[in-house]
Amino acid sequence: MLELRGYYSSEARRMLRFLQLRERRLPAHAQGAANGEGIKNQFFFITNLNSIEREKLFFMSEEINRKVVILGSGPAGLTAAIYAARAELAPLVIEGPQPGGQLTITTDVENYPGFAEGITGPELMNEFRAQAERFGTEFLSVWIDRVDLSQRPFTLYGKASKDSREITTIIKVETLIISTGASAKWLGVKGEEPAPAGLGGNGVSACATCDGFFFRGKPIVVAGGGDTAMEEANYLTRFASKVTVVHRRGELRASRIMQERAFKNEKIEFLWNTEIREILGDAARGVTGIQIYNNQNQKESVLPTEGVFVAIGHQPNTELFKGLLEMDEVGYLKTEGRTMKTNIPGVFACGDAQDDYYRQAITAAGTGCMAAIDAERFLSESE
Ligand code: NDP
Repeated sequence: MLELRGYYSSEARRMLRFLQLRERRLPAHAQGAANGEGIKNQFFFITNLNSIEREKLFFMSEEINRKVVILGSGPAGLTAAIYAARAELAPLVIEGPQPGGQLTITTDVENYPGFAEGITGPELMNEFRAQAERFGTEFLSVWIDRVDLSQRPFTLYGKASKDSREITTIIKVETLIISTGASAKWLGVKGEEPAPAGLGGNGVSACATCDGFFFRGKPIVVAGGGDTAMEEANYLTRFASKVTVVHRRGELRASRIMQERAFKNEKIEFLWNTEIREILGDAARGVTGIQIYNNQNQKESVLPTEGVFVAIGHQPNTELFKGLLEMDEVGYLKTEGRTMKTNIPGVFACGDAQDDYYRQAITAAGTGCMAAIDAERFLSESE
């Protein structure tokens, strides 16, 4: 028997998963716990693991061998998992620091087909996950520190968290599907944090297509001066009574055509040389305004508004593959023609890590499906 004492449930679950993958002979109640069952309290206990063994558990590097590993658990990764699992490839999904991906930080998803009444982002991702699990997908929570793609099987080096020093897991894999997604860039100001700490998801958003609909007839602000900001501002004029673009400089970075379209739009106003210092509001009312600073005359003031769209760009989460895989200058992975193949045979990329254009849950899911089919064909051709 093993003892696991005083860890938060997420930690306990991660450790049990780790044990399960290593030993495959956990006591029945621990197996259930590793699958998330029965961990309702903050702490979970199993008996008889001494402190040295517990240390070992964290610091021992363990080798796992798989045909398919999927890196990332958003719509792309989990769809790839459903397809790969149904093809009996027993995929292992490595959950990143945000299991479920960007949708888990949105509220209602109204444009995902199949849910006539809408569904919340976290619920949708739970469904994806349950469907992947149903066909035998396994999940592992480790931070992948580095990868070796120079020969097959590829090697992934994992550690307990981003800040840990020790490599605890070594994964050897025949085909790798990269679905690490992208992260919206944030301003880093007070009030922007996800609710309940801040107003993120409660008036603050980084996705006009996802959330614009909720601002019908309301005045809103778009932060940024690039193509994303112009596109979001134009799109949001369909709903908002007025869109104020707040930009930190006196000229836009956006392409001429996008600038002209925004300048022509009567519902869009510009606040130049202006920095957002804080997003104001409270949990009950949502966003009520922004504290702004004019960097030309050094004056601070408050601009009343009911929504803030941060549109200062996205960053694909592909740092891990710099110098290993072909990517564009921003970091989006390049794929070949209509396929999800990267420049290394056996490595596939899908979702927002390779798509800077559509960036929708449904398109990510579509490319996840394609990547799994590509991986399956690759494996059967190389056998
Ligand atoms: P960009 O990097 O082009 O623009 C980012 C904007 O946000 C800049 O105006 C920048 O200000 C501002 N910004 C960045 N950080 C901060 C900050 N901390 N505080 C305040 N403002 C900040 O990113 P985009 O996402 O707009 O575009 C990325 C790429 O994608 C571009 O190549 C673009 O052309 C392309 N794209 C094309 C589209 C289309 O053609 N339909 C749509 C969307 C994107 P500053 O100007 O002062 O640096």
